[in-house]
Amino acid sequence: MQIDQDTRVFGLIGYPLAHSLSPFIHNLAFKAMGVNAVYLPFPVKPGRVSSVVNGARALGIRGFNVTIPYKESIIPYLDRVSLEAEACGSVNTVLIEEDRAVGYNTDGRGFMDSLEQEGVKVPRLAIILGAGGAARAIGYQLAVRGSITVFLNRTPERAEKLARDIARITGQESWGKSWDSSCISDFVQDAELLINTTPVGMYPDIDQKPPFVLKNLNSRSVVADIIYNPLNTRLLREAEGLGLKTISGLGMFVNQGVRSWEMFTGREAPRKLMEDRLRGLLLKNET
Ligand code: NAP
Repeated sequence: MQIDQDTRVFGLIGYPLAHSLSPFIHNLAFKAMGVNAVYLPFPVKPGRVSSVVNGARALGIRGFNVTIPYKESIIPYLDRVSLEAEACGSVNTVLIEEDRAVGYNTDGRGFMDSLEQEGVKVPRLAIILGAGGAARAIGYQLAVRGSITVFLNRTPERAEKLARDIARITGQESWGKSWDSSCISDFVQDAELLINTTPVGMYPDIDQKPPFVLKNLNSRSVVADIIYNPLNTRLLREAEGLGLKTISGLGMFVNQGVRSWEMFTGREAPRKLMEDRLRGLLLKNET
């Protein structure tokens, strides 16, 4: 890689950042497409997020991604956020143009892209396990496309609040319940899509799965997990065992990265290359 005075700098802020795969896919795409740019991890220590945007402006950094724990706390330091980021209350991509920092959220659309790539239609009713940032981003995108969303969460108050917010913002029916609630059997029967947005089952706790009884889903339901490490979570393996179609979190991860990369560069990203190389890396790590 040739670094010179024209090299554009992008990156990722979060803390800690030890296992992030974003530098891998962004730099791979720069190299493959001959873009004179570099993508660096910036582990921002707690208490320092207030300096990030001004620091990036001062250094001429053109854009950066944002991950845990700064997706919400970066917002007050931006000049503007997109409608979608505002609805989600979180930002995962910041673009700095002519000193103005604008925040976007590509997570929800990244998930919707992966549904489309898998040939799955927008469901009439979707059950979403979890009520955090990813659940909100995905729930918003499903609701604006007309889905009824049901959030099941360990902390029911959070699910209830999220459902109220989604209904208010989108005008679409939404419910929030405890994930062991006894009054969800009608939703479960009708669900066309179940999505796990909790970290339950993620490496290294790969033998865990959310306490949701998959056998009560109807046979046409699709089961998606947004975890991508491992690629095939215990939830997905059980769903496959029941003959249900499954979708891993790899597609969402690649798609949200593709959307950010295209915003950074204004060019079409080498999506297939990014996905193939990432899958290869994750499979190698699993063996
Ligand atoms: P978050 O805002 O912290 O929300 C986490 C959610 O999971 C909350 O609803 C939380 O429930 C629930 N949860 C956490 N630990 C749990 C446990 N042990 N048992 C039951 N519920 C638990 O996190 P997030 O940003 O939404 O991210 C969630 C997951 O999605 C992470 O694994 C992340 O890596 C993944 N993700 C993947 C992509 C992708 O591109 N594929 C993108 C974004 C996120 P409470 O409300 O009860 O705390």
